Formats: sequence, structure tokens, C-alpha cells
Amino acid sequence: MSAWTPHRLRTSLDRRLTEYCNTLTVPLSWPQGAVSMTFDDAPVSAFEQGADAVREAGGFATFYCSLGLMSHPSPCGVLGGPLHLRQAWSCGHELGCHTFDHVDAWSCDNETFMASISRNAHAYGTLIPGFQPRTFAYPKQGARWSVKRQVSSRFSASRGGRPTAHFEKADLNLLRCVFLDDSRRPEPAALHHLIERTAKERGWLILATHDVNSQPSPYGCHVRDLRYWLRQCVSAGLRLLTVERASTELQEGAGAGGRS
Ligand SMILES: [Zn+2]
Repeated sequence: MSAWTPHRLRTSLDRRLTEYCNTLTVPLSWPQGAVSMTFDDAPVSAFEQGADAVREAGGFATFYCSLGLMSHPSPCGVLGGPLHLRQAWSCGHELGCHTFDHVDAWSCDNETFMASISRNAHAYGTLIPGFQPRTFAYPKQGARWSVKRQVSSRFSASRGGRPTAHFEKADLNLLRCVFLDDSRRPEPAALHHLIERTAKERGWLILATHDVNSQPSPYGCHVRDLRYWLRQCVSAGLRLLTVERASTELQEGAGAGGRS
């Protein structure tokens, strides 16, 4: 059994608090369940093969971009540039917010973290005049309770990383998501079961990856696998919606209540 060091204990407590504080809980009272496909950091391959796979499945994707890293090389391949972002937006995909330089909430103070979010949102407004991202994804190690309230006040929904789907209700301030990355995708049987349960119980499954290639990085997904899992979701009866669209439907259904 691994030892509970003071650091591990603090981290575990912080993650627990993040789940239970500053929630915006909405019931999943829609008539049919949904799946959302998100691409973090958005390499060029996500804008190309990834977007194609989502369109083939009959929906639109959500891209969480760090605009300070546009066109830069990364472990997932070269990241999308201004033209990729503009084109995705004009085709109907959602552009969501990440931090400008991809700092995460665990590696800097809250002020630095929030400043990086503001810078990213401002850069979006420069890239696409008048545009502001409405949903956010916490980079790398995810959310911390001390910054959750500030982040939540800026966005209609924020995605964390707990790897499961939503059933009965969802905290729009800390959405869960299942990564399809080669290095951390669930076993196929478990993912099939999760998709079937999400459809049956009218839940919401958010999927994520980075690059989409025939030779993906450990953080990416093979294009054949992405097509396969999206097809499974749609054939099971899930609607393929952007995170913004799904969260808007849920908020409208829930009225103004639910905040704690
Ligand atoms: Zn990221």
C-alpha cells in the first residue's frame, strides 16, 4: 500500500473540495442523451482528421486552444494556427478556452492562472472580432477548489477530467470527461458499457483527445478508433453536441436554480 504523505493528503483533499464546492448542478432532464467530442490544445490533425470524423458522425466538435501556442510544435504534433481556428469556427465548431500559455492551476498562483485565461480570451477576440469563448477546459492536472469560483464566473461551463459520464445531473462548473488517448483510453468493454448506459439513462458523455492520426502520439487517438467510438455513440442514440450547446440546453431546462 502506498504511503499517505502530507502532499498526497493535501492534493486529495483539494480535489475533493473542488468536486463539492462552487457547483452549478443541473438535472439531465432532456429527452435524449448526448455525447460531446473535445480536442485539447488542438493540433493541426485535430482540425483536419478530427473535425472530419465528427462531421461524418453528424455533429460539431469543441476545440480547447491555448492561443499563445498556435502553430507551435508540441508532443502531439504542430498545433493549429489562426487559419485552422477561424475555419473551424466558421464551419460551426465550438472554440473553447484553455490558458494562453497552457499553465495549469497546480503549477502557478490563482492570479497568474486567471491572467492566462484572460489573455487567451482576449486573443480570441483579436483573432475573431467580437468572439468570446463560452466554455473552458482545465489544462493538464485539472481544477483546484481555490480557483474554481473565479473560473466558473467567466464561463457557462468548465470541463475537468474525472473519467466517467454524467448521469441524472452534471456540475457545469466541473464537467467530467473520458480521454480516448492511446495511453489512457478505458478498456473497449468498459467504454462500450459506458456508452450504452449513457444512452439508456439519457446521460451526457464528454470525450476528449489531442491529435488524431494514423500514428497517434500517446496523447492522441487513431482516426479509425475515433470514427469507431463516435459511430458507437450515435448508433446508441446519443446526440453529438458541442459542450456549449449541451450545457446551454441543460441550463435552459434547469432555469436559474442549482447553484451552491
Ligand atoms: Zn491542454
